[in-house]
Amino acid sequence: MHEDYFAPASERRRRTVDDLRTDYPSLEFDAERDAADRAEASFIQASLDEFIARLNGRTPSAAFAWDNGSRERISPHPVYQREVYRTRSFDDLPTLNRAMLRTYPTPFDYEATAGSTVYTDRTSGTSGAPLTVYYSQTFMAQYLHLNMIKVALAGGIEGIGRRPVFSVRITDNQAYKGGVVIPNPLDLVGLSVIHHVDVTQGEAFEELARLLADLDPEVVIAKPNLHKILLEHWEREGAEAPIRPLMVVSGGAMLLDELRGRIGGFFGCPVISAYAISEAGYLGSECPRRHIHLDETVHERFESVPVEGAAEDDTARGELTVTSMSNDCMPLVRYRVGDLVDFTTESCACGRPGPLLRELRGRTTIVFDLGNGFLLSPTRYMDMFKDNPELVEYQLTQKQRRSFHLGIELRSGLAAHEREAALVRIRNTVEAGMPVPAELTLEERVFEGEGAKFARFRSEVTA
Ligand SMILES: [Zn+2]
Repeated sequence: MHEDYFAPASERRRRTVDDLRTDYPSLEFDAERDAADRAEASFIQASLDEFIARLNGRTPSAAFAWDNGSRERISPHPVYQREVYRTRSFDDLPTLNRAMLRTYPTPFDYEATAGSTVYTDRTSGTSGAPLTVYYSQTFMAQYLHLNMIKVALAGGIEGIGRRPVFSVRITDNQAYKGGVVIPNPLDLVGLSVIHHVDVTQGEAFEELARLLADLDPEVVIAKPNLHKILLEHWEREGAEAPIRPLMVVSGGAMLLDELRGRIGGFFGCPVISAYAISEAGYLGSECPRRHIHLDETVHERFESVPVEGAAEDDTARGELTVTSMSNDCMPLVRYRVGDLVDFTTESCACGRPGPLLRELRGRTTIVFDLGNGFLLSPTRYMDMFKDNPELVEYQLTQKQRRSFHLGIELRSGLAAHEREAALVRIRNTVEAGMPVPAELTLEERVFEGEGAKFARFRSEVTA
């Protein structure tokens, strides 16, 4: 293993989970999962070794073979039981998208992992109605514990693992209220903490600043819109960065250069974009040249395919697909990630081999600016589909600074009173998320499919 990637063992300072929880009693710790992850330690280490070997160009990416073994591995899953998956060559296989998966009551047979623990999660619902995803224990273990280590390594950050707390992930997802602490089963790095902030509460910013100053993590992680809200608050207050991390990581959506520059200036460290989706975990992250290197040590193959519904002569755009078989309970074959990309298999200017993304064009999320420093992040509406089972699709458009239009598509076959109740509930949820009162008009409509270009959140307000 490359020596400089991790701090020497003699310089690693550590805190135990119990010790941290005496200061932060609300932090949740899942002892059962920790034990299961520790049982996978040698597998996690082997995955990391493979990643490092690939990073250093020691093992070239092996051509992925679509053979009998691959066919057998996907055969228990309903979505792959069509004839086409048994007979054709890889290049003739159809692509798969999220909408297609939703047409199956259960697209995957998660018991295919033969009794080992299965974890479920749901996609966020910011880019399509949510989908339940399943992770096998081994897949989950390497994803959970190597994700941020890989981001650091690919980003050229050296000497990680010195501080007692490795990372703090900041989220506004209410499922993490109270926070979570996760130890690294290999002890290569310190503790990972997930911290929930409610940005509508003024004291949340100060509480976060105190937590960061106290834990002094090497890595701070958040989605771009949350980074933006935090940064603008601290800038308004004239506050200085509470800590100097080794890197700040932005994930979940595209990071615009202007915001990247401001975050980097504030924290005084590199800002690195990580690329992941709920359905497949870590896909890749940026090198020092800011190209996103795709991780073929976990996933078998990446391709760029024509965008669905694009004009035939529009060859400039491609959509990324991933073929990923290592998650036994949910293997993905030519799965459309839903992002427009500039993809290449050529080597990068940084010297590392492809495949990589020279540019990630899709997946922008916006933050609505309601004036006077009031910002609204669409992640406020993450639970919209979960809380409103009648909802098929919606679109929130900012028409003027404090005037919004809400388009709603409800499930067909609802009785009139159910329909009315759902509309009132959805309207209330949207209004409750607004940081200041805003006008809201409502319209029931039908959305035509959800192509790569569909934007659930739009603003017609120009700066
Ligand atoms: Zn590179």
